[in-house]
Amino acid sequence: MHQLTLAEIARGLADKKFSSEELTKVLLARITQLDPQLNSFISLTEELALEQAKAADVRRANGENGALLGAPIAHKDLFCTQGIRTSCGSKMLDNFKAPYDATVVSKLAAAGTVTLGKTNMDEFAMGSANESSWYGAVKNPWNLEHVPGGSSGGSAAAVAARLLPAATATDTGGSIRQPAAFTNLTGLKPTYGRVSRWGMIAYASSLDQGGPLARTAEDCAILLQGMAGFDPNDSTSIDEPVPDYAAGLNGSLQGLRIGVPKEYFGAGLDPRIADLIQNSIKELQKLGAVIKEISLPNMQHAIPAYYVIAPAEASSNLSRFDGVRFGHRCADPKNLEDLYKRSRGEGFGPEVQRRIMVGAYALSAGYYDAYYLKAQKIRRLVKNDFMTAFNEVDVILGPTTPNPAWKLGAKNSDPVAAYLEDVYTITANLAGLPGLSMPAGFVDGLPVGVQLLAPYFQEGRLLNVAHQYQLNTDWHTRTPTGF
Ligand code: GLN
Repeated sequence: MHQLTLAEIARGLADKKFSSEELTKVLLARITQLDPQLNSFISLTEELALEQAKAADVRRANGENGALLGAPIAHKDLFCTQGIRTSCGSKMLDNFKAPYDATVVSKLAAAGTVTLGKTNMDEFAMGSANESSWYGAVKNPWNLEHVPGGSSGGSAAAVAARLLPAATATDTGGSIRQPAAFTNLTGLKPTYGRVSRWGMIAYASSLDQGGPLARTAEDCAILLQGMAGFDPNDSTSIDEPVPDYAAGLNGSLQGLRIGVPKEYFGAGLDPRIADLIQNSIKELQKLGAVIKEISLPNMQHAIPAYYVIAPAEASSNLSRFDGVRFGHRCADPKNLEDLYKRSRGEGFGPEVQRRIMVGAYALSAGYYDAYYLKAQKIRRLVKNDFMTAFNEVDVILGPTTPNPAWKLGAKNSDPVAAYLEDVYTITANLAGLPGLSMPAGFVDGLPVGVQLLAPYFQEGRLLNVAHQYQLNTDWHTRTPTGF
Protein backbone atom coordinates (compact mmCIF):
# COMPACT_ATOMS: atom_id res chain seq x y z
CA MET A 1 0.00 0.00 0.00
CA HIS A 2 2.92 2.33 0.71
CA GLN A 3 3.89 2.26 -2.98
CA LEU A 4 0.67 3.97 -4.08
CA THR A 5 0.74 7.45 -5.56
CA LEU A 6 -1.83 10.10 -4.60
CA ALA A 7 -3.70 9.40 -7.85
CA GLU A 8 -3.78 5.65 -7.11
CA ILE A 9 -4.85 6.30 -3.51
CA ALA A 10 -7.76 8.45 -4.74
CA ARG A 11 -8.88 5.61 -7.05
CA GLY A 12 -8.43 2.95 -4.35
CA LEU A 13 -10.46 4.97 -1.85
CA ALA A 14 -13.18 5.69 -4.43
CA ASP A 15 -13.36 1.98 -5.34
CA LYS A 16 -13.47 1.07 -1.62
CA LYS A 17 -10.38 -1.15 -1.96
CA PHE A 18 -9.18 0.25 1.39
CA SER A 19 -10.15 3.00 3.77
CA SER A 20 -8.16 6.10 4.63
CA GLU A 21 -7.93 4.80 8.20
CA GLU A 22 -6.35 1.52 7.03
CA LEU A 23 -3.88 3.34 4.81
CA THR A 24 -3.02 5.83 7.54
CA LYS A 25 -2.27 3.02 10.00
CA VAL A 26 -0.01 1.28 7.48
CA LEU A 27 1.96 4.48 6.83
CA LEU A 28 2.24 5.45 10.50
CA ALA A 29 3.65 1.98 11.27
CA ARG A 30 6.08 2.33 8.37
CA ILE A 31 7.26 5.72 9.62
CA THR A 32 7.82 4.32 13.12
CA GLN A 33 9.76 1.39 11.70
CA LEU A 34 11.88 3.12 9.04
CA ASP A 35 12.24 6.78 9.92
CA PRO A 36 14.91 6.29 12.61
CA GLN A 37 17.34 5.68 9.70
CA LEU A 38 16.34 8.89 7.94
CA ASN A 39 15.27 11.40 10.63
CA SER A 40 12.77 12.90 8.19
CA PHE A 41 10.13 13.77 10.79
CA ILE A 42 10.33 16.26 13.65
CA SER A 43 6.86 15.47 14.98
CA LEU A 44 4.39 12.69 14.31
CA THR A 45 0.70 13.54 14.69
CA GLU A 46 -0.85 10.06 15.00
CA GLU A 47 -3.98 11.11 16.86
CA LEU A 48 -4.81 13.93 14.49
CA ALA A 49 -4.09 11.64 11.51
CA LEU A 50 -6.46 8.91 12.67
CA GLU A 51 -9.13 11.47 13.46
CA GLN A 52 -8.80 13.09 10.00
CA ALA A 53 -8.71 9.68 8.29
CA LYS A 54 -11.92 8.57 9.99
CA ALA A 55 -13.59 11.87 9.10
CA ALA A 56 -12.49 11.48 5.46
CA ASP A 57 -13.91 7.94 5.37
CA VAL A 58 -17.24 9.29 6.65
CA ARG A 59 -17.24 12.04 4.00
CA ARG A 60 -16.57 9.44 1.28
CA ALA A 61 -19.32 7.20 2.66
CA ASN A 62 -21.62 10.22 2.32
CA GLY A 63 -20.82 10.53 -1.37
CA GLU A 64 -17.94 13.01 -1.47
CA ASN A 65 -15.11 12.10 -3.82
CA GLY A 66 -12.31 14.72 -3.91
CA ALA A 67 -8.86 13.68 -5.11
CA LEU A 68 -7.32 14.60 -1.75
CA LEU A 69 -10.11 13.25 0.44
CA GLY A 70 -8.38 10.76 2.78
CA ALA A 71 -4.90 11.28 1.30
CA PRO A 72 -2.07 11.05 3.85
CA ILE A 73 0.50 13.85 3.66
CA ALA A 74 2.91 15.71 5.94
CA HIS A 75 3.80 19.37 6.27
CA LYS A 76 7.24 20.89 6.30
CA ASP A 77 7.69 22.12 9.86
CA LEU A 78 7.48 25.80 8.95
CA PHE A 79 3.77 25.66 8.12
CA CYS A 80 1.92 26.70 11.26
CA THR A 81 -0.29 23.93 12.62
CA GLN A 82 -2.70 24.88 15.37
CA GLY A 83 -1.81 23.36 18.73
CA ILE A 84 1.05 21.39 17.21
CA ARG A 85 4.75 22.18 17.52
CA THR A 86 5.93 24.29 14.57
CA SER A 87 9.69 24.34 15.06
CA CYS A 88 11.14 25.56 11.76
CA GLY A 89 13.97 23.12 12.51
CA SER A 90 15.20 25.45 15.26
CA LYS A 91 15.83 25.27 18.97
CA MET A 92 14.35 28.79 18.96
CA LEU A 93 10.88 27.36 18.24
CA ASP A 94 11.21 23.92 19.82
CA ASN A 95 8.57 24.90 22.37
CA PHE A 96 6.33 26.82 19.93
CA LYS A 97 2.83 25.50 19.32
CA ALA A 98 1.23 27.60 16.59
CA PRO A 99 -2.03 29.29 17.64
CA TYR A 100 -3.50 28.90 14.14
CA ASP A 101 -3.19 26.90 10.91
CA ALA A 102 -1.34 28.28 7.87
CA THR A 103 -3.66 28.82 4.89
CA VAL A 104 -1.98 25.92 3.08
CA VAL A 105 -2.65 23.67 6.06
CA SER A 106 -6.30 24.70 6.46
CA LYS A 107 -6.99 24.47 2.71
CA LEU A 108 -5.52 20.98 2.50
CA ALA A 109 -7.34 19.91 5.67
CA ALA A 110 -10.62 21.15 4.18
CA ALA A 111 -9.87 19.10 1.04
CA GLY A 112 -9.67 16.07 3.35
CA THR A 113 -5.96 15.38 3.65
CA VAL A 114 -4.64 13.43 6.62
CA THR A 115 -1.64 15.00 8.39
CA LEU A 116 0.82 12.31 9.47
CA GLY A 117 3.31 14.77 10.93
CA LYS A 118 5.72 17.65 10.49
CA THR A 119 8.87 17.08 8.48
CA ASN A 120 12.45 17.95 9.27
CA MET A 121 14.10 20.89 7.54
CA ASP A 122 17.15 23.12 7.58
CA GLU A 123 16.89 25.64 10.39
CA PHE A 124 14.60 28.47 9.21
CA ALA A 125 14.84 26.94 5.70
CA MET A 126 18.45 28.06 5.31
CA GLY A 127 20.49 25.41 3.58
CA SER A 128 20.83 22.98 0.70
CA ALA A 129 21.63 19.80 2.60
CA ASN A 130 19.28 19.54 5.57
CA GLU A 131 22.23 19.41 7.91
CA SER A 132 21.48 22.65 9.78
CA SER A 133 18.35 21.37 11.57
CA TRP A 134 18.49 21.53 15.35
CA TYR A 135 16.87 18.08 15.25
CA GLY A 136 19.81 16.59 13.38
CA ALA A 137 20.63 15.91 9.74
CA VAL A 138 18.25 14.06 7.42
CA LYS A 139 19.69 11.13 5.42
CA ASN A 140 19.12 10.42 1.76
CA PRO A 141 17.22 7.11 1.32
CA TRP A 142 19.22 6.44 -1.88
CA ASN A 143 22.43 6.38 0.14
CA LEU A 144 22.30 6.98 3.87
CA GLU A 145 25.77 8.54 3.83
CA HIS A 146 24.57 11.33 1.56
CA VAL A 147 22.44 14.43 2.13
CA PRO A 148 18.84 14.53 0.83
CA GLY A 149 19.16 18.18 -0.20
CA GLY A 150 17.55 21.06 1.60
CA SER A 151 15.91 22.87 3.02
CA SER A 152 12.86 20.59 2.51
CA GLY A 153 15.01 17.49 3.04
CA GLY A 154 12.62 15.86 5.50
CA SER A 155 9.65 16.08 3.15
CA ALA A 156 11.82 14.76 0.30
CA ALA A 157 13.41 11.86 2.19
CA ALA A 158 10.05 10.76 3.59
CA VAL A 159 8.31 10.75 0.20
CA ALA A 160 11.28 9.12 -1.56
CA ALA A 161 11.38 6.35 1.07
CA ARG A 162 7.65 5.70 0.50
CA LEU A 163 6.77 6.69 4.06
CA LEU A 164 3.97 8.73 2.49
CA PRO A 165 2.91 9.69 -1.04
CA ALA A 166 3.45 13.47 -0.96
CA ALA A 167 4.31 16.38 1.29
CA THR A 168 4.27 20.14 1.38
CA ALA A 169 7.53 22.05 1.05
CA THR A 170 8.81 25.56 0.42
CA ASP A 171 11.31 27.01 -2.01
CA THR A 172 13.18 30.28 -1.40
CA GLY A 173 16.16 29.48 -3.60
CA GLY A 174 15.57 25.87 -4.62
CA SER A 175 14.38 24.04 -1.53
CA ILE A 176 11.63 22.14 -3.33
CA ARG A 177 13.43 21.45 -6.61
CA GLN A 178 16.89 20.61 -5.26
CA PRO A 179 15.80 17.96 -2.71
CA ALA A 180 13.44 16.60 -5.39
CA ALA A 181 16.46 16.17 -7.67
CA PHE A 182 18.57 14.57 -4.91
CA THR A 183 15.90 12.01 -3.97
CA ASN A 184 14.31 11.16 -7.35
CA LEU A 185 11.08 13.10 -6.82
CA THR A 186 9.02 15.60 -8.74
CA GLY A 187 8.77 19.00 -7.04
CA LEU A 188 7.14 22.23 -8.10
CA LYS A 189 7.87 25.77 -6.98
CA PRO A 190 4.86 27.82 -8.07
CA THR A 191 4.83 31.42 -9.30
CA TYR A 192 5.41 33.88 -6.46
CA GLY A 193 1.93 34.70 -5.15
CA ARG A 194 0.25 31.50 -6.39
CA VAL A 195 0.27 29.78 -2.97
CA SER A 196 -0.51 31.72 0.20
CA ARG A 197 2.40 32.43 2.53
CA TRP A 198 0.09 33.18 5.45
CA GLY A 199 1.20 31.07 8.40
CA MET A 200 4.35 29.95 6.60
CA ILE A 201 7.23 31.09 8.83
CA ALA A 202 9.13 33.62 6.74
CA TYR A 203 12.74 33.24 5.66
CA ALA A 204 12.99 35.72 2.75
CA SER A 205 9.50 37.04 2.11
CA SER A 206 10.01 38.20 -1.48
CA LEU A 207 11.37 34.78 -2.50
CA ASP A 208 9.52 32.20 -0.34
CA GLN A 209 6.86 30.07 -2.01
CA GLY A 210 5.14 26.86 -0.90
CA GLY A 211 4.58 23.93 -3.22
CA PRO A 212 4.22 20.16 -3.56
CA LEU A 213 6.82 17.37 -3.38
CA ALA A 214 5.64 14.02 -4.75
CA ARG A 215 6.78 11.16 -6.93
CA THR A 216 4.97 12.15 -10.11
CA ALA A 217 3.86 15.29 -11.92
CA GLU A 218 0.30 13.98 -11.70
CA ASP A 219 0.55 13.93 -7.89
CA CYS A 220 2.09 17.42 -7.85
CA ALA A 221 -0.94 18.57 -9.85
CA ILE A 222 -3.29 17.03 -7.30
CA LEU A 223 -1.50 18.51 -4.29
CA LEU A 224 -0.99 21.94 -5.89
CA GLN A 225 -4.73 22.07 -6.65
CA GLY A 226 -5.35 21.91 -2.91
CA MET A 227 -2.71 24.53 -2.05
CA ALA A 228 -3.08 27.23 -4.71
CA GLY A 229 -5.41 30.21 -4.73
CA PHE A 230 -5.92 33.78 -3.62
CA ASP A 231 -5.72 34.50 0.10
CA PRO A 232 -6.78 37.91 1.39
CA ASN A 233 -4.59 37.28 4.48
CA ASP A 234 -1.44 37.37 2.32
CA SER A 235 -0.91 40.76 0.68
CA THR A 236 1.43 39.19 -1.91
CA SER A 237 -1.09 36.52 -2.89
CA ILE A 238 -2.38 37.08 -6.42
CA ASP A 239 -6.05 36.94 -7.35
CA GLU A 240 -5.68 34.81 -10.46
CA PRO A 241 -8.01 31.89 -11.20
CA VAL A 242 -6.59 28.43 -10.44
CA PRO A 243 -6.81 26.16 -13.49
CA ASP A 244 -7.70 22.46 -13.29
CA TYR A 245 -4.14 21.14 -13.21
CA ALA A 246 -5.05 17.46 -13.60
CA ALA A 247 -7.15 18.23 -16.68
CA GLY A 248 -4.17 19.93 -18.31
CA LEU A 249 -1.76 17.00 -17.97
CA ASN A 250 -2.59 15.33 -21.27
CA GLY A 251 -1.88 18.12 -23.73
CA SER A 252 0.39 17.18 -26.64
CA LEU A 253 3.96 18.47 -26.66
CA GLN A 254 3.94 18.75 -30.46
CA GLY A 255 5.64 22.02 -31.36
CA LEU A 256 6.49 22.93 -27.75
CA ARG A 257 9.46 25.30 -27.87
CA ILE A 258 12.08 24.37 -25.27
CA GLY A 259 14.89 26.81 -24.59
CA VAL A 260 18.22 25.45 -23.37
CA PRO A 261 20.45 28.21 -21.95
CA LYS A 262 24.03 27.91 -23.12
CA GLU A 263 25.24 29.26 -19.75
CA TYR A 264 23.88 26.12 -18.05
CA PHE A 265 26.53 23.89 -19.53
CA GLY A 266 29.69 25.67 -18.40
CA ALA A 267 32.39 24.42 -16.09
CA GLY A 268 31.01 23.36 -12.74
CA LEU A 269 28.35 21.03 -14.17
CA ASP A 270 29.15 17.35 -13.61
CA PRO A 271 29.56 16.02 -17.19
CA ARG A 272 27.55 12.92 -16.30
CA ILE A 273 24.62 15.17 -15.36
CA ALA A 274 25.09 17.06 -18.63
CA ASP A 275 24.71 13.73 -20.49
CA LEU A 276 21.51 12.86 -18.63
CA ILE A 277 20.08 16.29 -19.44
CA GLN A 278 20.85 15.67 -23.12
CA ASN A 279 18.98 12.36 -22.87
CA SER A 280 15.95 14.08 -21.41
CA ILE A 281 16.07 16.63 -24.24
CA LYS A 282 16.05 13.76 -26.78
CA GLU A 283 13.09 12.18 -25.00
CA LEU A 284 11.12 15.44 -25.24
CA GLN A 285 12.11 15.86 -28.90
CA LYS A 286 10.60 12.42 -29.58
CA LEU A 287 7.36 13.79 -28.12
CA GLY A 288 7.39 16.66 -30.60
CA ALA A 289 9.25 19.40 -28.73
CA VAL A 290 11.52 21.75 -30.63
CA ILE A 291 14.83 22.72 -29.01
CA LYS A 292 16.34 26.17 -29.22
CA GLU A 293 19.56 27.44 -27.67
CA ILE A 294 18.98 30.59 -25.62
CA SER A 295 21.06 32.83 -23.38
CA LEU A 296 20.59 34.05 -19.80
CA PRO A 297 23.57 36.42 -19.70
CA ASN A 298 23.11 37.65 -16.12
CA MET A 299 22.94 34.21 -14.56
CA GLN A 300 26.52 34.53 -13.27
CA HIS A 301 25.43 37.38 -10.96
CA ALA A 302 22.48 35.54 -9.46
CA ILE A 303 24.23 33.76 -6.57
CA PRO A 304 25.86 36.89 -5.13
CA ALA A 305 22.60 38.83 -5.53
CA TYR A 306 20.55 36.08 -3.89
CA TYR A 307 23.00 35.71 -1.00
CA VAL A 308 22.59 39.42 -0.24
CA ILE A 309 18.80 39.68 -0.68
CA ALA A 310 17.85 36.47 1.15
CA PRO A 311 19.97 37.16 4.26
CA ALA A 312 18.84 40.82 4.25
CA GLU A 313 15.19 39.78 4.38
CA ALA A 314 16.00 37.02 6.87
CA SER A 315 17.73 39.44 9.23
CA SER A 316 14.58 41.53 9.28
CA ASN A 317 12.13 38.60 9.50
CA LEU A 318 14.04 36.87 12.28
CA SER A 319 14.21 39.97 14.47
CA ARG A 320 10.84 38.94 15.92
CA PHE A 321 12.48 36.01 17.69
CA ASP A 322 13.73 38.04 20.62
CA GLY A 323 13.12 35.82 23.64
CA VAL A 324 10.11 37.91 24.60
CA ARG A 325 7.28 37.07 22.27
CA PHE A 326 8.10 33.68 20.78
CA GLY A 327 10.13 30.63 21.48
CA HIS A 328 13.34 30.17 23.39
CA ARG A 329 14.19 32.46 26.31
CA CYS A 330 17.53 32.25 28.11
CA ALA A 331 17.63 31.44 31.82
CA ASP A 332 18.00 34.27 34.37
CA PRO A 333 18.57 37.28 32.08
CA LYS A 334 20.45 40.10 33.81
CA ASN A 335 18.77 42.86 31.80
CA LEU A 336 16.93 43.36 28.49
CA GLU A 337 20.05 43.36 26.35
CA ASP A 338 21.29 40.18 28.00
CA LEU A 339 17.86 38.61 27.37
CA TYR A 340 18.02 39.42 23.65
CA LYS A 341 21.64 38.42 23.21
CA ARG A 342 21.55 35.12 25.02
CA SER A 343 18.08 34.07 23.85
CA ARG A 344 19.09 34.62 20.22
CA GLY A 345 22.62 33.29 20.72
CA GLU A 346 21.29 30.08 22.26
CA GLY A 347 18.19 29.70 20.07
CA PHE A 348 19.73 30.17 16.61
CA GLY A 349 22.30 27.80 15.11
CA PRO A 350 25.50 28.92 13.33
CA GLU A 351 24.11 29.13 9.77
CA VAL A 352 21.15 31.25 10.88
CA GLN A 353 23.45 33.55 12.87
CA ARG A 354 25.75 33.89 9.86
CA ARG A 355 22.84 34.91 7.61
CA ILE A 356 21.51 37.41 10.16
CA MET A 357 24.94 39.04 10.39
CA VAL A 358 25.40 39.16 6.60
CA GLY A 359 21.89 40.56 6.15
CA ALA A 360 22.15 43.18 8.88
CA TYR A 361 25.49 44.29 7.41
CA ALA A 362 24.10 44.56 3.87
CA LEU A 363 21.17 46.64 5.10
CA SER A 364 23.15 48.98 7.35
CA ALA A 365 23.52 52.67 6.53
CA GLY A 366 26.51 53.18 4.28
CA TYR A 367 26.38 49.65 2.84
CA TYR A 368 22.75 49.54 1.72
CA ASP A 369 23.44 51.09 -1.70
CA ALA A 370 26.55 49.04 -2.32
CA TYR A 371 25.00 45.68 -1.49
CA TYR A 372 21.23 45.53 -1.10
CA LEU A 373 20.31 48.08 -3.77
CA LYS A 374 22.88 46.65 -6.17
CA ALA A 375 21.52 43.15 -5.60
CA GLN A 376 17.99 44.37 -6.34
CA LYS A 377 19.21 45.82 -9.63
CA ILE A 378 20.78 42.48 -10.56
CA ARG A 379 17.50 40.85 -9.66
CA ARG A 380 15.77 42.99 -12.28
CA LEU A 381 18.38 42.03 -14.89
CA VAL A 382 17.86 38.34 -14.12
CA LYS A 383 14.12 38.78 -14.56
CA ASN A 384 14.61 40.68 -17.82
CA ASP A 385 16.75 37.83 -19.19
CA PHE A 386 13.86 35.45 -18.60
CA MET A 387 11.31 37.81 -20.14
CA THR A 388 13.44 38.05 -23.29
CA ALA A 389 13.87 34.28 -23.42
CA PHE A 390 10.16 33.62 -23.00
CA ASN A 391 9.46 35.72 -26.08
CA GLU A 392 11.01 32.88 -28.03
CA VAL A 393 10.37 29.71 -26.05
CA ASP A 394 7.57 28.13 -23.99
CA VAL A 395 9.72 26.48 -21.33
CA ILE A 396 13.37 26.56 -20.31
CA LEU A 397 15.15 23.29 -19.55
CA GLY A 398 18.39 22.45 -17.77
CA PRO A 399 19.90 20.62 -14.83
CA THR A 400 18.38 21.23 -11.39
CA THR A 401 21.76 20.93 -9.68
CA PRO A 402 25.38 20.93 -10.86
CA ASN A 403 26.21 17.82 -8.80
CA PRO A 404 24.38 14.86 -7.29
CA ALA A 405 23.81 14.69 -3.51
CA TRP A 406 27.07 15.12 -1.64
CA LYS A 407 28.26 13.20 1.41
CA LEU A 408 27.01 14.27 4.82
CA GLY A 409 29.43 16.80 6.25
CA ALA A 410 31.30 17.34 2.96
CA LYS A 411 30.48 21.07 2.75
CA ASN A 412 30.08 21.89 6.44
CA SER A 413 33.31 23.82 6.76
CA ASP A 414 32.73 25.86 3.59
CA PRO A 415 29.30 27.54 3.42
CA VAL A 416 30.11 29.26 0.11
CA ALA A 417 30.72 25.87 -1.54
CA ALA A 418 27.16 24.95 -0.57
CA TYR A 419 25.78 28.29 -1.82
CA LEU A 420 27.31 27.63 -5.25
CA GLU A 421 25.23 24.45 -5.59
CA ASP A 422 22.10 26.67 -5.89
CA VAL A 423 23.21 28.13 -9.22
CA TYR A 424 20.37 26.66 -11.33
CA THR A 425 17.49 27.12 -8.91
CA ILE A 426 17.78 30.61 -7.38
CA THR A 427 17.15 32.55 -10.60
CA ALA A 428 13.50 31.40 -10.66
CA ASN A 429 13.01 32.79 -7.13
CA LEU A 430 14.69 36.09 -7.99
CA ALA A 431 12.33 36.43 -10.96
CA GLY A 432 9.28 34.91 -9.20
CA LEU A 433 8.85 32.28 -11.92
CA PRO A 434 7.47 28.75 -11.54
CA GLY A 435 9.94 25.86 -11.74
CA LEU A 436 9.74 22.08 -11.59
CA SER A 437 12.32 19.36 -11.08
CA MET A 438 11.74 15.81 -12.27
CA PRO A 439 13.81 12.61 -12.24
CA ALA A 440 16.22 12.24 -15.18
CA GLY A 441 18.50 9.33 -14.28
CA PHE A 442 21.26 8.34 -11.89
CA VAL A 443 24.96 9.03 -11.32
CA ASP A 444 26.76 6.54 -9.02
CA GLY A 445 23.38 5.33 -7.77
CA LEU A 446 22.30 8.87 -6.84
CA PRO A 447 19.33 10.56 -8.54
CA VAL A 448 19.65 13.48 -10.95
CA GLY A 449 16.95 16.04 -11.71
CA VAL A 450 16.05 17.99 -14.82
CA GLN A 451 14.56 21.43 -14.24
CA LEU A 452 11.84 23.12 -16.28
CA LEU A 453 10.96 26.81 -15.93
CA ALA A 454 7.92 28.56 -17.40
CA PRO A 455 6.37 32.04 -17.58
CA TYR A 456 4.28 33.37 -14.68
CA PHE A 457 1.28 31.21 -13.75
CA GLN A 458 2.19 28.50 -16.26
CA GLU A 459 2.43 25.78 -13.58
CA GLY A 460 0.00 23.80 -15.72
CA ARG A 461 2.43 23.83 -18.64
CA LEU A 462 5.27 22.53 -16.43
CA LEU A 463 3.07 19.76 -15.08
CA ASN A 464 1.91 18.87 -18.59
CA VAL A 465 5.48 18.56 -19.91
CA ALA A 466 6.60 16.57 -16.87
CA HIS A 467 3.60 14.24 -17.05
CA GLN A 468 4.15 13.49 -20.74
CA TYR A 469 7.84 12.89 -20.03
CA GLN A 470 6.93 10.53 -17.19
CA LEU A 471 4.52 8.58 -19.38
CA ASN A 472 7.53 7.81 -21.59
CA THR A 473 10.31 7.33 -19.02
CA ASP A 474 10.53 5.28 -15.85
CA TRP A 475 13.16 7.10 -13.76
CA HIS A 476 10.46 8.40 -11.41
CA THR A 477 9.26 4.86 -10.65
CA ARG A 478 12.61 3.68 -9.21
CA THR A 479 12.56 2.95 -5.49
CA PRO A 480 15.58 3.20 -3.15
CA THR A 481 16.73 -0.21 -1.89
CA GLY A 482 15.71 -0.93 1.67
CA PHE A 483 12.55 1.14 1.38
N1 GLN B 1 19.91 26.92 -0.39
C1 GLN B 1 19.22 28.17 -0.41
C2 GLN B 1 19.48 28.91 0.88
O1 GLN B 1 20.12 28.36 1.72
C3 GLN B 1 17.75 27.98 -0.63
C4 GLN B 1 17.00 27.55 0.56
C5 GLN B 1 15.52 27.53 0.33
O2 GLN B 1 15.04 27.49 -0.81
N2 GLN B 1 14.76 27.60 1.42
O3 GLN B 1 19.09 30.01 1.07
